[in-house]
Amino acid sequence: MVVVLEQNITSRDKEALRAFLLERGFQVREVVGESETIFGAVGSSGVDHREVEMLAGVARVVPISKPYKLASREFKKEDSVFPVGPVKIGGNRVVVIAGPCAVEGREEILECARIVAAAGGVMLRGGAYKPRTSPYSFQGLGEEGLRYLKDAGERYGLPVVSEIVSPAQADTMRDYVDVFQIGARNMQNFELLKTVGALVRPVMLKRGLCATIEEWLMAAEYLLAHGAEDVILCERGIRTFETYTRNSLDISSIPVVKKLSHLPVLVDPSHATGLRDQVIPVGLAGIAAGADGLIVEVHPDPPHAASDGPQTLFPEQFEKLMRDITALSPVVGREVARLPARKRPDPVTLTSAAGGGQTGVDRNDQLTVAFQGARGAYSEIALGRFFEGQPGRVGSLPATAFRNVFEAVLDGTADYGIVPLENSLMGSIHQNYDLLLAYPDLEIVGETHIRIEHSLIGTPDATIETIREVISQGPGIEQCRDFLDTHPQWTVTPFYDTAGAVARIKEAGDASLAAIANSRTAEVYGMKVLKQGIESNPRNYTRFAILARDGRRPDPLAEATMAALVFSTPDTPGALFECMRVLAERKLNLKKLESRPILGQPWQYRFYADVQMPASEEEFARALHELEGVTRGLRVLGRYRGSREPVSA
Ligand code: PEP
Ligand code: MN
Repeated sequence: MVVVLEQNITSRDKEALRAFLLERGFQVREVVGESETIFGAVGSSGVDHREVEMLAGVARVVPISKPYKLASREFKKEDSVFPVGPVKIGGNRVVVIAGPCAVEGREEILECARIVAAAGGVMLRGGAYKPRTSPYSFQGLGEEGLRYLKDAGERYGLPVVSEIVSPAQADTMRDYVDVFQIGARNMQNFELLKTVGALVRPVMLKRGLCATIEEWLMAAEYLLAHGAEDVILCERGIRTFETYTRNSLDISSIPVVKKLSHLPVLVDPSHATGLRDQVIPVGLAGIAAGADGLIVEVHPDPPHAASDGPQTLFPEQFEKLMRDITALSPVVGREVARLPARKRPDPVTLTSAAGGGQTGVDRNDQLTVAFQGARGAYSEIALGRFFEGQPGRVGSLPATAFRNVFEAVLDGTADYGIVPLENSLMGSIHQNYDLLLAYPDLEIVGETHIRIEHSLIGTPDATIETIREVISQGPGIEQCRDFLDTHPQWTVTPFYDTAGAVARIKEAGDASLAAIANSRTAEVYGMKVLKQGIESNPRNYTRFAILARDGRRPDPLAEATMAALVFSTPDTPGALFECMRVLAERKLNLKKLESRPILGQPWQYRFYADVQMPASEEEFARALHELEGVTRGLRVLGRYRGSREPVSA
């Protein structure tokens, strides 16, 4: 049964409840969810639910109707997401695990790891103990193979997965593998399941050749009941009357299992089909059906692979599979998981012109912040302002597009990213709001804003009189319209970027060409300010969000004064009013509310709300809980220290 705890349960009541359940013969597992904390109580004990419901601190008791308990959705509503080294399994990210069927030697597995990492795989597979149909076939290199596998994984930053076929191998294998694989033939080897469960390590459980979905979930239950916390299910095809393919991939098992269980599900298109030409289409079908990733076989020379050669991809085929998955994933609302970058490009320590300070700081100590635009862009000036207290520690990394800023933070190339969210004259920068939704691993952890003060900038020998043409980004031009109108003889040409326009006039070295940008940008490029403050409206500010992942923050969470929320509402009268009522009752001051069309759902809208944090954490949690009841898909995009009082840059 699932025992849902009251939010304000005292620790004494909680311990008394745990003791009560243990005494009655239950195993108890605590699960802290986003909106509630539960005790999962499983075992054969027959206790009247009402007896538990009456205990202090219990909100309600939900019986689990399925024979598998810990694996069921009834036990845990949210998808399980867990880390394996730097990789997160489950959730929004599609993970690709690849490698040879068997580890054949040191050089072979190193080359496989190189191929996997270069194409974007995040984990390395390779069997060291091979369960082969024929006793005369290659049986694997055993511990020697495990050693090669681990070394190759470490060399390329890839966690490794390998199959265990006997409880006797557990002690040896635990030193080498990050994920234990239970093969199809051993899915119901209950002694093996108990041993591997007790290791409390991540396990990938393949579906048995003839196993029903319920038998498969019961096998997962064995692992969970014996201690495993992180179990990955893997659909690898089942035996049918069809002989053309090695097995038949049961594609419908993916949505079925995702409904029945909270565990992540992978698809193995290699063993499902047995034919390399079928691996790409069937693998893509798995992702389209909702799988959390793939495990595939790849080898530098498949025709000479020691096992499963016919189903093993050539390196170029694996690269194509990765490209196709990258293209497909956003269509089904997913992103492809990537490893953090191992070697970072050199960021440039902030120049004083961009708001920073001294140079010569140890790289290891340095924070890298990605921004969009050329050096000296308003975004770079804004990051200089935000990280003002730590000049010299902060290196800035230019990115060509906003998406690249998000990517750099996601793959670890940058510690933080900065993107503009709103301009006080022109409104929201919608592209970045959309990207915040597309990158759920990233959150807003800070905010800053700067005054947008434009100057006319020329080459060192230019004067206002020598100018014939002015270039700048569209909004820069619009914001200086009054000034430009006083020089009707000038040609005005849009350019992709304000700072880029200054770089362009420097490159051209032409005294008739001027750019509109910030005067600090002129300093960065050694150009001359011909006229400062040419914007029509001096009350022009842009607000920027600082992005990070994995809980990294520039300040303690306790200092957050604002929260950014996104949600949609049911299509009923007063639905938005209900949301506003929660905010009003919970005293969350609404600072901004905006609607955006939901991509792909014509005439449906999502609301973005910026609210001031209430005095206490509990109140915020309660407000979120209530909002969840009246909204759909509520997400907190971030909590941060607000900066919305206008000041001059
Ligand atoms: C394997 O992954 O190499 C393997 C033997 O898979 P399965 O257990 O699915 O046949
Ligand atoms: Mn194989």
